[in-house]
Amino acid sequence: MEFWFTERQTPNLGLTCRVKESLWVERTPYQTLAILDTYQYGRMLVLDGAVQTTEVDEHIYHEMLTHVPLLIHPRPRRVLVVGGGDGGTVREILKHPEVEQVELVEIDERVIAASRRFLPTISCALEDPRARVIVGDGVAHVAAAQGAYDVILVDSTDPVGPAIALFEEPFFASLHRALKGDGIFAAQTKTPYLDGALIAQIQRWVARRFPVACLYLAAIPTYPTGLWSFMLGSKRHPHDRPDEVRAKALETRYYSPEVHRAAFALPRTVEELLERARSALP
Ligand code: SAM
Repeated sequence: MEFWFTERQTPNLGLTCRVKESLWVERTPYQTLAILDTYQYGRMLVLDGAVQTTEVDEHIYHEMLTHVPLLIHPRPRRVLVVGGGDGGTVREILKHPEVEQVELVEIDERVIAASRRFLPTISCALEDPRARVIVGDGVAHVAAAQGAYDVILVDSTDPVGPAIALFEEPFFASLHRALKGDGIFAAQTKTPYLDGALIAQIQRWVARRFPVACLYLAAIPTYPTGLWSFMLGSKRHPHDRPDEVRAKALETRYYSPEVHRAAFALPRTVEELLERARSALP
């Protein structure tokens, strides 16, 4: 008998994967956590029915969330990850020799434990001496920081449960305060095809505080619609001039300086969707 997992992405849209084996399911204090072994995408972390990361395409999301901001910052030494309990973003950050410390603030320690046990190629860098894993709420952690970080990466679930506050204006104000004078943040901001209003609202909040407030895109097969977005806010450094020398030294499978620059070139369809969303904002 065949076993299929379906992620219900909207009332009318889903992603369905054929499953070899369900390796782990548990109800944590924050969400329902599952690790599925799928034929198409390998092992998959699913939280509350939403695909978070898969062995086959995780490199796309983690490389684009990480290397775009880290390569436009001239010397990223202190980096913070909000969420990211699977460890993939930390693994990419630690490819940068300039990074002296990365702090990961993940609210659900069961995600870290399950990723360490079932997703070793993704969570492998969590043991690195430069990595400091903190179990806690990223909202409170960022709010308590003042000029502490060169780069902050918001690698959260979508705006449900404890992640809701990560998509609200006070959090973007606290990101600004937590960053150093030339700091940069990047945050996953869902898909322009389904979430234009959210993206337009976040871009308005970011543009109020950061001279550079740009959206960039990546093609991620297992995320809703396959086209995913990231919001970048930079206090000083331009978004489209990656350090080519440092980039060439990085081992990547999706990111390149050319992909970096192209990621900020929004297709007309996306521009129109966002323009319509902006005009509908209160
Ligand atoms: N790559 C995934 C994506 O883009 O959907 C995100 C991966 S990571 C597993 C997302 C993590 O954010 C989850 O482990 C969740 O527990 C964590 N998270 C959600 N809200 C949080 C908060 N307020 N503070 C810290 N971690 C949070």
